[in-house]
Amino acid sequence: MPAALLNPVLDLLTLRGLVTAAEPITARMRRLRVEGDALAGLDVQPGQQVRVLVSGLTLRTYSVWRYDPSGAVELCVLDHSEGGPGARWGRNVGVGEQVRLRKPEGTFTLRPEAGHHVFVGEETASVAFGAMLAALPEGARISGCVETETAGDRLPLAHADRLNWLTRGGTSLPDAVRQLAPAPDGIAYVAGEARTVQHVRQVLVRELGWDRRSVLTKPFWAPGKRGLE
Ligand SMILES: Cc1cc2nc3c(=O)[nH]c(=O)nc-3n(C[C@H](O)[C@H](O)[C@H](O)COP(=O)(O)OP(=O)(O)OC[C@H]3O[C@@H](n4cnc5c(N)ncnc54)[C@H](O)[C@@H]3O)c2cc1C
Repeated sequence: MPAALLNPVLDLLTLRGLVTAAEPITARMRRLRVEGDALAGLDVQPGQQVRVLVSGLTLRTYSVWRYDPSGAVELCVLDHSEGGPGARWGRNVGVGEQVRLRKPEGTFTLRPEAGHHVFVGEETASVAFGAMLAALPEGARISGCVETETAGDRLPLAHADRLNWLTRGGTSLPDAVRQLAPAPDGIAYVAGEARTVQHVRQVLVRELGWDRRSVLTKPFWAPGKRGLE
C-alpha cells in the first residue's frame, strides 16, 4: 500500500513518537527513549508493555521500563543472538527517528496490595520487573531470582540487592526457586522464556504450595517462535 494511504491508517492505530535517546544500558541491551505529544497522559501500570512497529508492518512487544506522563516512554531492547526484526530494530534505531507504537496494555502488572513480591525471570523479564520494583516502597517484602547471560547483562533495578542474581549455565531458574523456597504468602511474577516460565510455575505450585492464582506468568519468547505477541 502506498505511504500516502498507509500513514493515515497507521495514525489511527498507533501513537507516534521520536527517539530522543538510544544508549547501551547493559552489555546487550539498549535503552530507547521515545517522546511525543501523543505519549503524554497515558494510563500505564508498572509491568505493562507496548507493541512497536519495528519494520514495515511487523510488530514486536516491549515492556515499559520507565514512563514519564509528560510524554516519554522508555524501553530496553535485548540484542539476542538470533537477531530477528525486533533485535535489529533495537540495535539500529537512532536518535531523531520516528517510532510508531500501540497504547500500553497487559495484565502482567504489579499487585501493590500483596504482602510479598517474588520476581523470577531472565534479561527480557527484568525490564518489566524494573518498572514494578521502582514502584515498590523501601519497606516492601521483595525476593526472587533473575538469570542473565553474564553479570554485564544485569539491568540497574531498584531493590536489586534483595534479588538472587544467577548466570546462565550455573544453577537453573527452577532450581534457584526451589532453593529460595519463597513462602506462599504473596504474589509471584514469572516471565521470560516460555518453557522456563512453565517450569518455575510448576515448582511454585506443585512443590512449594503456591496457589496458582497467586503466580502471574507471562511468556515473552520461545526458541523457534517469532514474535510471541
Ligand atoms: C509481554 C512481552 C514483553 C516483552 N518485553 C521485552 C523487553 O522489555 N525487552 C526485550 O528485549 N524483549 C521483550 N520481549 C520480547 C520481544 O517481544 C521479542 O520477542 C524479542 O525482541 C525478539 O524479537 P525478534 O524480532 O528479534 O525475534 P523473533 O523474530 O521474534 O524470533 C526469532 C528467534 O529468536 C530467538 N529469540 C527471540 N527472543 C530471544 C531472546 N530474548 N533470547 C534468545 N533468543 C531469542 C527465538 O529462537 C526466535 O525463534 C517481550 C515480549 C512480550 C510478549
